[in-house]
Amino acid sequence: MTPTITFHGAAGCVTGFCVRLQSDRASILIDCGMFQGSKTLKALNYEPFPFDAPALDAVLLTHAHIDHSGLLPKLMKAGYGGPIYATGPTQELCAIMLADAGGIQENEVEYLNRRNQRRGRPPVEPIYREADAERTMKLFRTVKLCDIVAVAPGITARYWEAGHILGSASIEVIVEATDGPLHILFSGDLGPGGRDYSPDPAGPAGVDHLIAESTYGNRERIEIDPATRRRMLADELREAQAAGGPMLIPAFAVERTQELLADLLTMMDDGSVPETLIFLDSPLAIEACEVFQKRGWNRSSRRNPFEDVRASARLKFMSKVADSNGIERLRGWHIIMAGSGMCDAGRIRRHLKRLLWRNETTVLLAGFQAMGTLGRLLQDGASRVRIQGEEINVKARIRALDVYSGHADATGLTAWVQARQPVAGNVFLAHGEPDALQGLRDRLTTVGFAADTITIPAIDASYALRKSGIVAMPSDSTRIAPAAAAALDWHNDRARFLLQLDETLEQAPDATTRRTLLTRLTRALDSNA
Ligand SMILES: [Zn+2]
Repeated sequence: MTPTITFHGAAGCVTGFCVRLQSDRASILIDCGMFQGSKTLKALNYEPFPFDAPALDAVLLTHAHIDHSGLLPKLMKAGYGGPIYATGPTQELCAIMLADAGGIQENEVEYLNRRNQRRGRPPVEPIYREADAERTMKLFRTVKLCDIVAVAPGITARYWEAGHILGSASIEVIVEATDGPLHILFSGDLGPGGRDYSPDPAGPAGVDHLIAESTYGNRERIEIDPATRRRMLADELREAQAAGGPMLIPAFAVERTQELLADLLTMMDDGSVPETLIFLDSPLAIEACEVFQKRGWNRSSRRNPFEDVRASARLKFMSKVADSNGIERLRGWHIIMAGSGMCDAGRIRRHLKRLLWRNETTVLLAGFQAMGTLGRLLQDGASRVRIQGEEINVKARIRALDVYSGHADATGLTAWVQARQPVAGNVFLAHGEPDALQGLRDRLTTVGFAADTITIPAIDASYALRKSGIVAMPSDSTRIAPAAAAALDWHNDRARFLLQLDETLEQAPDATTRRTLLTRLTRALDSNA
């Protein structure tokens, strides 16, 4: 049988990475990520897997980010009991991140079920609980970079440095096939290189097929050395202090938060930025600090910059919800970092709710904001938003500082793919929004890749892999394409409509006009029923 590859996630979007590779002797997954972003996309997390979980022989994990690892406990619940291969740091990070994701789901479902009960609806179950996440960790097996590991009958794998986050890897998979061994390289998420705190991405040259991420496939970032990056952060801090209020940093809990903390504390120590207290209101980020304290790295100083972070008197850890209540009375210049980084969940929403309407507040968005998230709405200049059912005016200064990103930009991605040449067969582009996928495809054609050897797979699309090329297989998937799902997503329309309704009612000259409007709307709803 010719090996086949099927793209079950991050096809046409940036989240939910999950690829299944099937040979005549084994079936494996590369990553098992959670869909994030719009509600329509997140609904996919609740649907059954479009494959037989107990029949899988192995899972290879590129890195700990939830959009790559987040559905592993669901896979275990669905009957998967085989090994999950990952690097040591990825394993340590997964232990805290998956447990956190399980805890978040338990809380969300508890809240939802209280509402469902009041509305007379049946209760719902979380995708998985914290205890499921803990059980899943028993399936992990450690892989060292560069080692060749037999992962399933007829399949070996080699992990390469990806330079994206601590422990991240690109994975080269070698599958026995009728026309000889087939080398398939999965980029995972790729780092930009040249960073203080992470190594540069690497990888083998000469593969049969390549699966490349495309997050920033159509965007160039200014080349930033660590010193410039700190200067830019310092400027933001000075302006935020001048505005007189707090700075809220929606925190990408793992790595970016630790990097920001290391930079903030270093600059406060040397007096180059206004000193203040930093409240880290994210149990996950606090736990991740411990992993970085142990595993951190700095290429220039050759020492671990995260060692001192936890000891700093300026840094206040808010582990329990009760700890964070105290910050609410605080006024003036201070910094609050809270999850999540795209503002679509976590404690940051509470801080945004109480601070977005104040002129003196600064919100610093420190990374990619996916379509459909509250962070993206803010970045795009929304003047009003709804948070936890409440309408909030946005008066705060919204700033984006995307220089702490752990992703390579378009030039970096193109260079990485080029360095893997010769690629005998096909390049699949995944893990990008439609414009980014198209952008990277265009760039690759200018550096010697023929357009007909670059494929942008749809969700659940399958291909037979031969040495020299691919054959598209029929798909019986009924799952909606993520881009179409984003376009069809009505939740933001609903939020906008409710805001507009309230505004129109407020501005109406008198009660009669208001009642007439409501009568007309009710009639429209009745006629639709
Ligand atoms: Zn990632």
